Amino acid sequence: MHDVLVIGAGPTGLTLAINLLRHDINCKIIDKRSTHKSSESKAITVNAATLKLYHHLGIVDKFLERGCIVNDIYVH
Ligand SMILES: Cc1cc2nc3c(=O)[nH]c(=O)nc-3n(C[C@H](O)[C@H](O)[C@H](O)COP(=O)(O)OP(=O)(O)OC[C@H]3O[C@@H](n4cnc5c(N)ncnc54)[C@H](O)[C@@H]3O)c2cc1C
Repeated sequence: MHDVLVIGAGPTGLTLAINLLRHDINCKIIDKRSTHKSSESKAITVNAATLKLYHHLGIVDKFLERGCIVNDIYVH
């Protein structure tokens, strides 16, 4: 039995689920798509606010280890 049903396994749904579990609230995630493979990237960059959130979730170090840190971006 689950306390919360999270609909959508995108970043919003997954972040909600992580936070629910951190507060010992049992949840189930469902998504209308059977696979999350996408033909285009929807998250090339991760901004500072997201990194702050990852810090609170205790995953920022692991995330940065696997990421590529970009110091400058030039837009033409
Ligand atoms: C081309 C592109 C490039 C992008 N690049 C970046 C980037 O570089 N950096 C960045 O930070 N952001 C980027 N974004 C934005 C980022 O992808 C979105 O902000 C993010 O995906 C939003 O997350 P979400 O969970 O709210 O929605 P979504 O990622 O859309 O997830 C919603 C999920 O809910 C499911 N769903 C919807 N309705 C139902 C239903 N009725 N029943 C069951 N499941 C359902 C969908 O299948 C989907 O899996 C980009 C977006 C696009 C389109």
